[in-house]
Amino acid sequence: MTDNNSANDSEKNLDQKNAQHKKRMQAVKEKVDQRIDSAQEERGLIIVITGNGKGKSTSGFGTVARAVGHGLKAAVIQYIKGTWACGERSLLENAGVGFEVMGTGFTWNTQDKTQDIAAAQQVWLKNKKLLQDESIDVVLMDELTYMVAYKYIELDEVLEALKNRPVNQHAIITGRGCHRAIIDLADTVSEVQSIKHAFDNGIKAQKGIDW
Ligand code: ATP
Ligand code: MG
Repeated sequence: MTDNNSANDSEKNLDQKNAQHKKRMQAVKEKVDQRIDSAQEERGLIIVITGNGKGKSTSGFGTVARAVGHGLKAAVIQYIKGTWACGERSLLENAGVGFEVMGTGFTWNTQDKTQDIAAAQQVWLKNKKLLQDESIDVVLMDELTYMVAYKYIELDEVLEALKNRPVNQHAIITGRGCHRAIIDLADTVSEVQSIKHAFDNGIKAQKGIDW
């Protein structure tokens, strides 16, 4: 076989592969188009980001930023007050996002149950109001899952408030170990799995990355 012939053969092979690829992609596109066409309902969603891996709160804040970028109105409720103020707060407050942060609040080291319950209830009252406010398009409830797990806030109250919220309002809940009943009620649920985390290797939490 001459060089010319083998060049022609490999060109033919390439054409064949391209044609096969095009056919496969057309079939995929048809399926996706069908699904897009059949998804016609428009309403507010309940989104849960749970699991042990890093990326739950940042996902919630990312969605708030996305919504605000489109001119939607958002509010954030933070159920666990860390030792540091998170970077998203100053950025998003400047963009008009309201924040409710647990004042005396629950951190891993308060160990004062009565005080924690009172703090949780105080924030939950404000949270409930936001879930009744038609002018708010997106409500992020950061670390709400722990309040339910510790029974600082009644599960039934959370479910009721979520069910009765304005029809177009989006509700985002983050935190590990989300209660099954909230997962069942939600529209979109993601579980972030930890493969590894820098902290396991003795690297301390980094400003701008971890808070
Ligand atoms: P992030 O706020 O970075 O999105 P997260 O909301 O998924 O994290 P949380 O369980 O709320 O995670 O924990 C908050 C803090 O703990 C963050 O500083 C985060 O980097 C850290 N963290 C998250 N997952 C792990 C993990 N698997 N091991 C150790 N530290 C973690
Ligand atoms: Mg978090």
